[in-house]
Amino acid sequence: MSRIDRLIAAMTLPEKLGQMTMVSAGYAVTGPVVAGDARDAIKAGTIGNLLNLYGPDRVREMQELAVNSRLGIPLLIGLDVIHGHRTLFPIPLAEAGLFDAEAWEESARAAACEAAADGLALTFAPMLDVSRDPRWGRSAEGPGEDPWLAARIAVAKVRGLQGKRLDDGSAIAGCAKHYCAYGPVTAGREYASVDVSERTVHEIHLPSFAAAIAAGVSCVMPAFTDLAGIPMTAHVPLLRDWLRGHLGFDGVIISDYNAIAELIRHGVAADLTHAATLALKAGVDIDMMANAYRDGLPQALARGWVTGEDIDAAVRRVLTLKEQLGLFNDPYRRGASAEPEAQRIARRALARSIAGRSMLLLKNESSALPLTPGVRRLALVGPLADAPGEMRGPWWAAGEERDPVSVLAGLKAALPNTEVAYSRGTDIESDDESGIDEAVLLADQAQVVVLCLGERATMSGEAASRAHLGLPGRQRKLAEAVIQRARVRGQRTVAILFSGRPIVAPWLFESTDAVLAAWFPGSEAGHAIADVLTGRVSPSARSPISWPRAEGQIPIYYAERPGGRPENPADHFTSKYLDEPNSPQFPFGYGLSYGRFVYSSVAATPERVRESGDVEVRVEVRNEGPREAEETVFLFAHDRLASVARPTLELKGFGKIRLRPGEQGTVRIEVPAREFRFLGADLKSVFEPGEVELLVGPYADRSRLLIASIMLVS
Ligand code: BGC
Repeated sequence: MSRIDRLIAAMTLPEKLGQMTMVSAGYAVTGPVVAGDARDAIKAGTIGNLLNLYGPDRVREMQELAVNSRLGIPLLIGLDVIHGHRTLFPIPLAEAGLFDAEAWEESARAAACEAAADGLALTFAPMLDVSRDPRWGRSAEGPGEDPWLAARIAVAKVRGLQGKRLDDGSAIAGCAKHYCAYGPVTAGREYASVDVSERTVHEIHLPSFAAAIAAGVSCVMPAFTDLAGIPMTAHVPLLRDWLRGHLGFDGVIISDYNAIAELIRHGVAADLTHAATLALKAGVDIDMMANAYRDGLPQALARGWVTGEDIDAAVRRVLTLKEQLGLFNDPYRRGASAEPEAQRIARRALARSIAGRSMLLLKNESSALPLTPGVRRLALVGPLADAPGEMRGPWWAAGEERDPVSVLAGLKAALPNTEVAYSRGTDIESDDESGIDEAVLLADQAQVVVLCLGERATMSGEAASRAHLGLPGRQRKLAEAVIQRARVRGQRTVAILFSGRPIVAPWLFESTDAVLAAWFPGSEAGHAIADVLTGRVSPSARSPISWPRAEGQIPIYYAERPGGRPENPADHFTSKYLDEPNSPQFPFGYGLSYGRFVYSSVAATPERVRESGDVEVRVEVRNEGPREAEETVFLFAHDRLASVARPTLELKGFGKIRLRPGEQGTVRIEVPAREFRFLGADLKSVFEPGEVELLVGPYADRSRLLIASIMLVS
């Protein structure tokens, strides 16, 4: 008999339900329910999993209680390590813009090592929800608007978090979340109902999860939301039939925080017993923070609503994960020894380099950036210039408020011969304008003015939807005052935007010389920004999400279908606005560098390809700019004639090239022909023979792309 069989045979019902329960240790409660002290229950073996607890000593203390319980089953302990544990990397949306699978994996690996050294064995990441609505604050936590990109990130993150073997002391179990279609909440409003077509669910929202499952992710967390009336926590077709049945996922499904109890609020469960039944029947193994399984399942069992086998199957999955993590053999292996100092230093260096590479240069007129060497006086203005805590962004795990490097500190360190004068000017959010005059005066005496503007860290992330996506508070007033005066005096102005989403600010993009979207860069923020400003690093990130000109354009994304009346300025009766162009402020994939790249001679081979074949697309790229830089080259496809209308552009690949000034090189991108499959009218995947356009270039704007074409043959 295996260890797990023996344990299940020996367990009482309360012990089984304990393995199916996760409670918060109370250090960082994120939801409405606060669990009491779990100690006694852990000792009694009736709570088997914890969240929000870290630190080797605390973890050991709790594990000892569990190990000394009747059956000695160790605890599974998790935390949201969304973009780093103590050392914070840029928020996921920013990191998505790296378009670099190795870097995505590397930062996840580094975060996992740090989290594991702090006693953790599980994290609620990666967050894989595609978002086409920047009002939704959780866009910050995810991969952006594109399903193909999201799937690539899923694979890299699962590999990074889980390492080569789950039982390695530096590996932690991942949890792909939030399954699925949480991004299209109605009107971008957090937790609101979702109602999108089955096609959209399968084409846009499921691929990242399918990729995570294929990469071996240990856990999946259903979204809080309902999909066309069925809450995801109780979604039999998508959890039991699709995830378990179709994809063969046999890992652990963990509910979101209190989500099982919220089935009552959704209006599909009468009480906790009913709610627990629905969740268990759909396939949810662990109840996070609702106490629905412990309270409700005994009665559900007595009434015959669930069976002992249903319960045993869930317990078996939880115990199997604990076994895979090596917890039975050594519950203390994570956090057993302190990390060497060199590892900590290397992680900070990685955080700095990834943060520098995640900066998105949106505008750079007359090469305002990098700053010319020898600037005597630089004015640093704005509420985010000296705000280390804000640099963390949402979901900072164990990242401490004072730890990150502020822009002020970073610039001072990088420019020892420059006088860096700082004025806050105004708050991030208040109505106070009293500091604006002083800021203008201070800026007066500088050669360059750097404005640090944006959102508070907690204005994105969970429960952080915004209806207005401009700069909050009086920041526009501050920026306009400074920019106007700088213009008169012939000074350069550079704006650095901090946010968890695209900021709608056409006036800013027009009036400053340069705009750098820094998102929330994490622990090394100030150093990374200084690296880009001084030219030590040439920015190379690309936007993983379309930047709207106006909130009225939302939802906004590049991969739209053409419709029967595509936009035509000369024809009134076509798809457009009367008061804004259709095009975004900055399209998906947009981002400048300190180089200037020119594309030529695109070619795709072979001309005719079967489903089992591969297509290679080549394009010549030349750096005609003054500096060495890296270019990301995108490959989009358009199937012009198909049984179901296809988007006018769909991302199918990307390549990278680093070129010195005047240098030219060839970028090759390979695509397996099966990538051109799509869901037919019956939602079954088809490979339809015919011509497919391949469009190559710097971002999702047809006018900037070179076109080749291939013929799919059966
Ligand atoms: C969030 C999850 C998170 C969980 C635990 C919830 O409020 O929706 O993403 O993993 O809390 O912290």
